[in-house]
Amino acid sequence: MRYRLEAGTIITLQNPDAIIRNGQITWDQGHIVSIGAEESDLEPVDQVWRIPDGIVMPGLYNGHNHAAMTLMRGLADNSPFFEWLEQHIWPVEARLTADDIYWGTLLATAEMIRSGTVGFADMYFEVDSVAEAVSLSGMRGWLSRGLVGDQDVDGKKLADSVAFASRWRGKADGRIVPMLGPHAPYTCSPQYLSQVAEAARQEGLGVHIHLAESQDEIDTLQQRYGRSPIAMALDAGLFDSRVLIAHGVHLSPDDLAILKMHLNGGIISCPVSNAKLGNGILAYQDLADYGVQVGLGTDGAASTNTLDMFQEMKTMAWFQKVRNREPHRFTAWDALSMATLDTAQILGFEGGTLAPGRPADFIVVDGSENHLTPELDVVANLVYAATGADVRYSVIAGQVVMAEGIITTFDEAEARQQVRTRAAQLVGIH
Ligand SMILES: [Zn+2]
Repeated sequence: MRYRLEAGTIITLQNPDAIIRNGQITWDQGHIVSIGAEESDLEPVDQVWRIPDGIVMPGLYNGHNHAAMTLMRGLADNSPFFEWLEQHIWPVEARLTADDIYWGTLLATAEMIRSGTVGFADMYFEVDSVAEAVSLSGMRGWLSRGLVGDQDVDGKKLADSVAFASRWRGKADGRIVPMLGPHAPYTCSPQYLSQVAEAARQEGLGVHIHLAESQDEIDTLQQRYGRSPIAMALDAGLFDSRVLIAHGVHLSPDDLAILKMHLNGGIISCPVSNAKLGNGILAYQDLADYGVQVGLGTDGAASTNTLDMFQEMKTMAWFQKVRNREPHRFTAWDALSMATLDTAQILGFEGGTLAPGRPADFIVVDGSENHLTPELDVVANLVYAATGADVRYSVIAGQVVMAEGIITTFDEAEARQQVRTRAAQLVGIH
């Protein structure tokens, strides 16, 4: 089936000036066939959408999430990081069932689709349930089971992760990419990280890990091992594989040199989570100076409250301007690029720009809204003025998963009801 969408504005993201007025995008078999002026493609198509006020742009990729944590949205708000994690989150997580995780993830996919995200990297438990939900939703998922080494002395969970990868690799028409997810160096010993690195090399899997998130983490690892989290990851051999580093807020010059030399992948910044948990602001300019690629993610809804990547884009831009005290050094274009092309590249995926041959992963924002008028600078409008609620259409791998604001792949009201009931039971409210 061949489809076409015509819109008033198309942002291809190939370069800052690549904005097409009154253009069309045509796709077939999950890939873009043509994009440009309306008359450029004369092949017959099976269906056409005409959205004169629509702004077409590449879909957003959320590089770091724990989707099922929608079940804990709002739990123990305002607690310090380790108290929040150890005293509030972990006890609830210990009670989660596979069904809880399925529904929590499915609700997260509804929230992400509605706010323009087309793919996400996830780390959680009961990862078959996560994969089932992602498969149904129509989204892309780079999925890993969160591994806490202290709870895996016999290596069974690591073996299960590898078995999960064999079961799901390439499934859901290639929308699911399994990875290994060692949680962090403060929950995984150096020996355990080495075992994960060995499995990643053998199986050809990428690695998703939290590194250098809080000052507490740096101090703890310095005391325990006399090393930084980045040095530990290097010593364990993790950088032999593609690595998604969630956070990377606290980096020394030595860490930056290691990343420049060894990192294949990149850092996924989660500015809202880092702000909310009081963990600090990522040094984007330092990383850029060292040639380290930086993408964007939300982290779980338990720490960020919302999975809206538009909020992450504007927060990223604001914080960098506050940090640099120079408004020109980090632009709306930089933020948009981080949430699309840069994160896709870190994931090793060819999405993030709109061009013939690229995956048909794009969204349509309603440009008729008051707060997006006039359209003097459409990229600034998208980053600073738009929110996820302005997204009306989502096309992922060629499938229209949302049209006119309605998700087509599953019943989101049922997901909301399930999560409401299950969350109340989990935290003991009846
Ligand atoms: Zn996280």
